[in-house]
Amino acid sequence: MKKLVKVLSLAMSLLLLGCVLSACSSAPAATATLTFGTNAEFPPFEFVTANGTIGEFDGIDIAIAKQVAEDNNMTPVIENMEFDSLLVALQNGQIDAAIAGMTITDERLESVDFSNPYYTATQVMIVKDDSDITCAADMADKKICVIQGYTGEICVNDMGYPYESFKKGTEAVMELVNGKCDVVVLDSATAIKYVNDNEGLKIVEDPSAFESEEYAIAVAKGNTELLNKINTVLEKMINDGTISELGAKYSEMG
Ligand code: GLN
Repeated sequence: MKKLVKVLSLAMSLLLLGCVLSACSSAPAATATLTFGTNAEFPPFEFVTANGTIGEFDGIDIAIAKQVAEDNNMTPVIENMEFDSLLVALQNGQIDAAIAGMTITDERLESVDFSNPYYTATQVMIVKDDSDITCAADMADKKICVIQGYTGEICVNDMGYPYESFKKGTEAVMELVNGKCDVVVLDSATAIKYVNDNEGLKIVEDPSAFESEEYAIAVAKGNTELLNKINTVLEKMINDGTISELGAKYSEMG
């Protein structure tokens, strides 16, 4: 009898072990996640939608993020936060990379590393159709709106003009539409998007006042392993025309 109990318990143990092992091997291998921080208020680069490329987020940057993760067998995750918080989130490890139409600037380079650039932009002025602003100097006696922490704010600040800053591009543009300000200084592709979406607005360019800017993906200082992975995917996407195609696709999207 004792022997029977022993044999039975051994069989049970083996059965249990088998279950455990088979459960392990049949479960899908957990893929590592790659967390991107963005500020989904910057169409066509990132915006919130009902059904996006990653979760509820879509745009040129979101498609790039997805590709970077996929090519490295990782699962992309998007953390939507204020633009101003992105660099801190990188530094404290809350996100792995920041992709947010972010311009490479000397000041930002002090706290993070940037990938190779993937897009060239410039600041432009959004004004009402009947505005008499034709160049940056015409803003001198006008009411100027910018978005907090964007390079547009830095430019206007450097020009020495007073301005009001808003947390979101849409808020600044509404201020202009409602006649509460005369001009919004903003990145070109996003400005075009707002002008197309709102009646009675136009773009004024002044290349002599606004230098060209380059967008890149930021990672924590010294994270060369991730930076190399990102650069490899970016190079491929630039060379095979994917980035230009994404630019055209998302700029046309209503
Ligand atoms: N290119 C601008 C900057 O880097 C704006 C970016 C953004 O709003 N997402 O400040």
